[in-house]
Amino acid sequence: MAVPRHKHTRSSVGQRRMHIFVTPVKLTTCQKCSAPVRPHTTCKKCGFYKGKEVINVLGKLNKKERKIKEQEIKETEKVGVSKIPN
Ligand SMILES: [Zn+2]
Repeated sequence: MAVPRHKHTRSSVGQRRMHIFVTPVKLTTCQKCSAPVRPHTTCKKCGFYKGKEVINVLGKLNKKERKIKEQEIKETEKVGVSKIPN
């Protein structure tokens, strides 16, 4: 069985472990609905990427869910447009 050669002090263990960490996820805002999105990915809320619709978000929903989702998108678009000065 392998046996440790020297005692690792708290300091040396700490110095090794100071580089071990998880970096926080960087988020950008969607151009259409201004929801937080990871960069270079499609927005899961509205299904748009670079101003084009890539995913049909409303496709698999039933009538009731679709109505709620459409209303939600409308509200977020209003907020998004008012935020951007043009
Ligand atoms: Zn979006």
